[in-house]
Amino acid sequence: MPETKSYESIAANVAAVRETMKEAAQRAGRDVSEITLVAATKVQTSDTIRNAIQAGITVCGENRVQELVAHLEDNAYQGAKVHFIGHLQTNKVKFVVGKVDMIESIDSTRLMDAVEKQAAKLDIVQDILLEVNIGDEESKGGAAIDEVLALAQHALACPHLRLRGLMCIPPATASEEENRGFFQETYQLFVDMKDKLEDNNSTIDCLSMGMSGDYPLAIEGGSTMVRVGTALFGARPPWHPQG
Ligand SMILES: *Cc1c(COP(=O)(O)O)cnc(C)c1O
Repeated sequence: MPETKSYESIAANVAAVRETMKEAAQRAGRDVSEITLVAATKVQTSDTIRNAIQAGITVCGENRVQELVAHLEDNAYQGAKVHFIGHLQTNKVKFVVGKVDMIESIDSTRLMDAVEKQAAKLDIVQDILLEVNIGDEESKGGAAIDEVLALAQHALACPHLRLRGLMCIPPATASEEENRGFFQETYQLFVDMKDKLEDNNSTIDCLSMGMSGDYPLAIEGGSTMVRVGTALFGARPPWHPQG
């Protein structure tokens, strides 16, 4: 685990990221207040998370169940919301459902059914996003583009789930031009899904795309939620890459 990042360093990074977000929003004729900054806190200590929240972070994104559980036990997220943004196995949903404000990484009916079942047991409604494998990468989680609508319809039939939108992670190797295309495609999918499904039991208002390397581009492409780790906390140790 890397050492705890100071409040001062995080606060400076938060200010810089928010300024970059604002400039990107302006270029796109958007208001930055429509866009949520989610701090991707994987591998960070509980004290780093506390410092980030003190520095104005309102949502933390966690992508490993084990780290989520440890930080919850530590009460590290006090004052902020938590989103689960990583790959979720069906046998671990009980550690996540009802413990987080949103699960951004639902990518199969099997996982959705497991989340629905646990949410029903807890008698809650769990906010979810569908993760789209926008680069059609074999090694990656996320639903195929042509499965998204059926998944969304399945979600609407689950009384303990509230479908809020889509999340995507473009291929790590994509060029800026390719990324622009992936964001455009995901945005279109988001708009189509809204058009087809928006009704009284859904609130489709979240499009989660953009990470440290590409969040300005994602904002220009219509993102409403960026998940930023490195630009807030510095590079992660090499033994704990991407996922
Ligand atoms: C780690 C992670 C991020 C943030 O990545 P950075 O490049 O460090 O900003 C965003 N989304 C997910 C799902 C992640 O796992």
